[in-house]
Amino acid sequence: MPKFKEHISLQVQCDSCNKSVTAYPLVNRGDLVAALRGGLDVRVMHVTPGKDHIWSLSLADKQTLSKTIYQRFGLSSS
Ligand SMILES: [Zn+2]
Repeated sequence: MPKFKEHISLQVQCDSCNKSVTAYPLVNRGDLVAALRGGLDVRVMHVTPGKDHIWSLSLADKQTLSKTIYQRFGLSSS
């Protein structure tokens, strides 16, 4: 698993596993916040014993993630 300076994880539906899993954004928090603010693609990874699953979050998932980040860090921080 890649090392992130600040671990941000989210519970999200993984289509490959067809269940809710813990996934990690592929970018650091600053880039993540910028992507969420700018409405850009946010790619996340579900680490599995085999091949990791990587996909882009849906709009609803991004909104949930925005809320989570806001609660944990505040979106105003850079
Ligand atoms: Zn998966």
